[in-house]
Amino acid sequence: MSDRNGKQTDHFLEVVFSYTRWFFLCVAAFVYLLFYASGAESHLSFILLVVFGVLYMGVTQLFLHKSSRESRLYEWITKGGVVFDLIAYPWLIAVTGGFHSPFVPVGYLIVLHAILYWRYKGGIAAAITSTAGFSGVLTVQGQVFDGTSIIVFITNTVILFLFAIIGGVIISRERKHYAERLAYEQMARRDYLTGLYNHRTFQEHLQTYTEQNEPFYLVMADIDHFKRINDTYGHVTGDKVLKKIGETFREMDFNGAAYRYGGEEFALLVKKAGNRPLPVLLKKISEGVDRRNRAILSESRVTLSYGCLLAEGGDPEKLIRLADTRLYKAKAGGKDQAVGLEEVYPFEAAWSGK
Ligand code: GH3
Ligand code: MG
Ligand code: MG
Repeated sequence: MSDRNGKQTDHFLEVVFSYTRWFFLCVAAFVYLLFYASGAESHLSFILLVVFGVLYMGVTQLFLHKSSRESRLYEWITKGGVVFDLIAYPWLIAVTGGFHSPFVPVGYLIVLHAILYWRYKGGIAAAITSTAGFSGVLTVQGQVFDGTSIIVFITNTVILFLFAIIGGVIISRERKHYAERLAYEQMARRDYLTGLYNHRTFQEHLQTYTEQNEPFYLVMADIDHFKRINDTYGHVTGDKVLKKIGETFREMDFNGAAYRYGGEEFALLVKKAGNRPLPVLLKKISEGVDRRNRAILSESRVTLSYGCLLAEGGDPEKLIRLADTRLYKAKAGGKDQAVGLEEVYPFEAAWSGK
């Protein structure tokens, strides 16, 4: 969840940067027409800048909102924005008075944008590129430097580089804290051995599911004869079996989540809407668990028993108790089977993995 928050923060900044570009394009057009248009030999450069800017900014604005934030395209658009800015910056300076352009400080924003993705190295690279572009424009325009303007230029350049370095350090520190927080959050929400959500997360999610008043399946699962597996092959192998089961659950594609309830017990919360029938999902899980563990255990098969129910609202504790009762029935009925599916699918035969 916090991963998403991190991405949202970046997305928010990207949206801010994209609107800032439009703002500067409008202000630049206004400033150009008011102060510089009359003195210009040709308006071509300005017109090209506007056309280039409107095209680029229009297309990226569209994709910024339409493309998935996880996609390559999104990454290219957001990072490409820095390249666009570095091209547009000297151009903007050139058409609005060069050394005395009111848009010189825009360089700080570009450096800030580069820092966001490439930390202080990106900031320094952007500072070098924008300073080179700026100096190039002054050279091409043949602007004459007096003592004061050299001091101003040097001071501005030094501050720009300091900005890149200090900004980079601040962003690096912020990202490090963010990564640490993410790791701690993972530790608090996930089970170390299986990688599944832990008991605490299960309780939180179950509470949410019951509050949403949408039908969902609750499944309690327990490994059959796990003590025997431990006794025969040792606890290290037992742990490997638990890991493989975790992998199998994580590999399953369904609308919901799997949890390590405790010891060798697991739980599933599956939304009824948009999912394949529960017996099909459980069968796939059992097949996956069996297949993955064949490589570890030479002679024994690993099977699971399930207690299932369909719920909509209800008291979480009562639901767990009911699913548990059904799980015990599955054990008493010979293990390697699911109890409760007849209620969920009254017209289908209850599935048994045997
Ligand atoms: P049943 O088929 O009735 O479920 O029997 P069972 O042997 O699976 O169940 P029982 O409750 O008798 O034993 C569960 C075992 O699971 C005992 C415990 O040592 C083992 N266990 C629980 N957590 C872990 C773990 O993290 N690693 C390993 N290796 N074993 C575990
Ligand atoms: Mg048990
Ligand atoms: Mg067991």
